[in-house]
Amino acid sequence: MIGMLGGMSWESSQEYYRLANTLVRERLGGVHSARVLLDSVDFAEVEELQRTGRWQAAGELLAARAAALEAAGAELLLICTNTMHVVYDQVAAAVSVPVLHLADATAARLTGAGLDRVGLLGTSFTMEQPFYRERLAERGVTALVPGDEDRAEVHRVIYEELVRGVVADRSREAYRAVIARLVEQGSQGIILGCTEIELLIGPEDSPVPVFPTARIHIEDAVERALG
Ligand code: GLU
Repeated sequence: MIGMLGGMSWESSQEYYRLANTLVRERLGGVHSARVLLDSVDFAEVEELQRTGRWQAAGELLAARAAALEAAGAELLLICTNTMHVVYDQVAAAVSVPVLHLADATAARLTGAGLDRVGLLGTSFTMEQPFYRERLAERGVTALVPGDEDRAEVHRVIYEELVRGVVADRSREAYRAVIARLVEQGSQGIILGCTEIELLIGPEDSPVPVFPTARIHIEDAVERALG
């Protein structure tokens, strides 16, 4: 039973849910589907806590939801957003089941592909705070982030468009240009380090491999669940 802390945003949670079921059907065939518990928050609440830097309160909110998922029968948990891994320790401390860290799953995928220097796209929290890049570095991966203006644009597109279900060609072009600059700086791959970015960007938008974190995260969970 995979427990998902979702709704951050639901545009990517529905992708987690779709992929979980697709992966289980591929593995087990027939009409098999995934055993999932999804707790979907009101993203407006979480977004306000992020914007005002109230990370402790955000952690308490997610820790309570995680405990409820465990009580309802979840055997492993996913925080279905890169950004909210900033409160990973608080969430993990609230439950006794494993919480699969998105950066660990991504680092394993990168090093498995022989890459140790990659570009990181995500919210400004993910690109600028240490919690995500340090976790990658501890696993042998150096993450390069875009310059100031590019980071601002990548962040703006996430909050003003992608979490609202808007997928715009103009923004895809902007992301392609940011990716090209990260590749010029030596990125061997690109982490799509926000779970909505894979709704906008695919392998065709990058001269180097892209690593879609929602897909990687749920693939890791299904692999563990089915063994
Ligand atoms: N889903 C996004 C992420 O993976 C951003 C939304 C959020 O801040 O949770 O970081």
